[in-house]
Formats: sequence, structure tokens, C-alpha cells
Amino acid sequence: MAREGHEQVVLVADEPTGVRAVIAVHSTALGPSLGGIRFWHYDTEAAAIEDVLRLSEAMTLKAAAAGLDQGGGKAVVRWPDPHRPRTPEQLAVLGRAIHELGGRYLAAEDVGATTADMDGIAAVTPWVTGVSEFAGGSGDPSPVTAVGVRAAMRAAATERWGRPDLGDRHVVVQGAGHVGSALVRLLVADGARVTIADVDDEHTGALVRELGVEAVPVDEALTTPCDVVAPCALGGVLRADTVDRMRCEVVCGGANNQLATDDADDALAARGVLYAPDFVVNAGGILNIAEEFVGYAHERALAAAERVGETTARVFALAREWSVAPGHAAERMARERIAREPFGRGRWEPGDPAAWTGGAPLTALRPAPA
Ligand code: NAD
Repeated sequence: MAREGHEQVVLVADEPTGVRAVIAVHSTALGPSLGGIRFWHYDTEAAAIEDVLRLSEAMTLKAAAAGLDQGGGKAVVRWPDPHRPRTPEQLAVLGRAIHELGGRYLAAEDVGATTADMDGIAAVTPWVTGVSEFAGGSGDPSPVTAVGVRAAMRAAATERWGRPDLGDRHVVVQGAGHVGSALVRLLVADGARVTIADVDDEHTGALVRELGVEAVPVDEALTTPCDVVAPCALGGVLRADTVDRMRCEVVCGGANNQLATDDADDALAARGVLYAPDFVVNAGGILNIAEEFVGYAHERALAAAERVGETTARVFALAREWSVAPGHAAERMARERIAREPFGRGRWEPGDPAAWTGGAPLTALRPAPA
């Protein structure tokens, strides 16, 4: 905690329900910490803590780079069987732990979590986002995330080829899940040639049949000659050895934590591949969630996601100015914004109490812009 500047870590162990969770608040310097709840199999509590510390810090950078007045937090729940749903009692335990933080941590969906989980937690605390649309939430964020990824890709095209048009580009999308398939649709609509790769044949088959896109085996996703590779599956795909075999000019996708090591960013730059930093590119997800605080409107969320393009262009400009790879530039940009935090309060205090009474969905955490 001290090394990376985390403010608070909460361990949850509830004997009757068997819930074991860790909640980490990395920073509230810019606002309440926001981040998903991950249900994942962790062998040890130490592994869960290590993961939540890393993930919550990444959320701080993501929110700061996206221009949001939010900090970074995350929760992980030790959950051995990904297919076993949570009981209302288990969600209530998580909800109470989140509630006790008084709004310093705002929960959202992450790997393994569902909208139903968010609804269950919302029965106990208003400090949760991503609840069902019928309950005042924003629902599935992935279409908005994909809009942000395309905006970033247009910015990368401008940086690399001098114009944003993707119509005559060949894009390989790795992972045709929620974000990947939505991105494929947007790119096809833009006239791009799209190739997809997914471990799940059903996901690729459906898109090949419907849109006429090509599919390649998963082990060729990163090495197929193309203009842009869009990692939209798991993290850690960009390692020094994979980078050596890549035959694209741009990497720009929605997956989190794409760089397996810090030097993968430099390796891409050395090879002349323009890397659009993942946490900048995929910010559409949290920009979507943040709209819940002022009363969710899908059009406003889409407009916010389009502005991911401007942020990406700014990162490329800073990378040139500072003579560093774009990943380093994005991180420095985010950290400088946090350091400039004008209110000098260091830690965010929960706002209007009316915003968290009654267990209603969170719609008025921050006052609506005048
Ligand atoms: P998802 O589970 O719907 O999709 C992931 C897809 O990748 C699946 O179709 C899966 O079969 C496929 N896949 C898994 N391993 C693969 C491999 N080795 N090669 C090719 N395909 C593989 O998840 P998602 O919501 O689309 O998220 C994708 C990525 O984007 C994740 O890294 C996630 O953290 C990140 N992200 C998502 C959002 C969002 O709004 N959903 C927002 C920000 C970041």
C-alpha cells in the first residue's frame, strides 16, 4: 500500500455466507474511487490483495487520463467457480462492506460480475453503478467502450497516416466478445476490412456469417499482416517476443493491461508500431458509468466516448514532446493531473447525503453541471 500510495484496503470475511473479498481504494484525490468488482479464483489471500492493489491503481490512472473527477478503486472476491451465481445474502455482505466506505468506493462490473450482481448490491447500498437499466443504471457498457476504441483508432490513424479515415484500413480484432464484436460492427460500418480471432468458434462464426468478415486462428491474431491490431480479449498479450513478430503499424484495442511488461511499450516504439495506451483507449466503459452520477443519458455517454479520440491524440502529442513511448506519456499525463488536483483536499469526502439514502440507484452523487 505504501509503495504505490493506496489510501485504504478492506478485507472482508463472512463466515455464514463464505464471502472472502478485498476492497482497495487507491486514490480519491480527484473524487470518489470507481472500479469494478472482480469474481475470480485466487489461490491465496495474498494473491487477491496483490491483484486488487494493481487493479485499483490502474483505475486511478484511467479515470485521471479520461478527465473524470473520479479516483481509482477495485474489489476482488475469491470465487472458485465462475459459473456459480451469487446468492442475495452474499451480495448483501459485499453491499454492506461497500456501504461502510460511505461512498469512497463506487462499485461497478468487472470480470466475472454481472448486472444481476450490481442489482443485488444496489439493494443494500447506493454506492454501485452498472445496475439494470430498469433500475436507473446504464446497463452493458461495452457498446460505449467500442465507440471510444474506434475514436482512439481514428486518432491513431491520423497520427500514423495523416487522416482519420478507417475505410481503407485492414484491422485484426483479437477477441470477438462484448467489446470486440461491437467494435467489429463499427469498423465494418466504416468500410474497413476486418479480420477476427476468438477462442470461441461461436463468436467468430456468428460475425463471419452476419458481416462477411474473415476469421483467423487465435495464434495468428497478432502476427497477421494488417494496418491495425485491436486486442479486445485478455491482458498481457504484448510481450517482447510477440512484438517482434507483429506485422502491423498500429496497436489500438479495448483490452485492459495489454502490455505484459513495461518495456513492451518501448519494444513497440522501437519497431515503429504506434501503440495507443489501453487505459486511454478503453475509457468509454468508465465514462459511461460516470454518466450515472448525473442521471444516465446514453447519447451523452456516446458523446463522452467519442472524446476518447481527442485524449488519445493528446497522448501522442505529449509522447512526441517528451520523447517517450505513448504508454509512458499517458501515465505521466494522468499522474500530473492528480498532482495538480486543485482542491488540496487529498481525499474525497462523500457529498450530499440525499444521494445515498433509501438504497435508490445512484443518480445524484455529484451535482449536475450548471
Ligand atoms: P468478453 O468476455 O465479452 O470478450 C472477450 C472475448 O475474448 C471472448 O469472446 C473470448 O472468447 C475471447 N478470448 C479469450 N481468450 C482469447 C484468446 N486467447 N484469443 C482470442 N480471443 C480470446 O469481454 P469484454 O467485455 O468484451 O472485454 C474484453 C476486454 O476489454 C477485457 O480485457 C476487458 O477488461 C476490457 N474492457 C472491457 C470493457 C467493457 O465495457 N466491457 C471496458 C473496458 C475494458
